[in-house]
Amino acid sequence: MVSKANKEKSCLNCRTIYRGEKCTNCGETPSSDSFKGRVHIFNAEESEMADKMKLHNKGEFAIKSK
Ligand SMILES: [Zn+2]
Repeated sequence: MVSKANKEKSCLNCRTIYRGEKCTNCGETPSSDSFKGRVHIFNAEESEMADKMKLHNKGEFAIKSK
């Protein structure tokens, strides 16, 4: 069983998917656990998806969060 603190959520600031208390990418705490879709960015500079989503870091991101 997964405890609530360990649940995956998406940062409302940068859309990074993370577990724990705050975003591992930007350090912000507002987050949503009802995000939709996810995308892995391995190379933000060469990824069309990253460009579209205006992502500049590698990592795992929610496509949509609310
Ligand atoms: Zn963030």
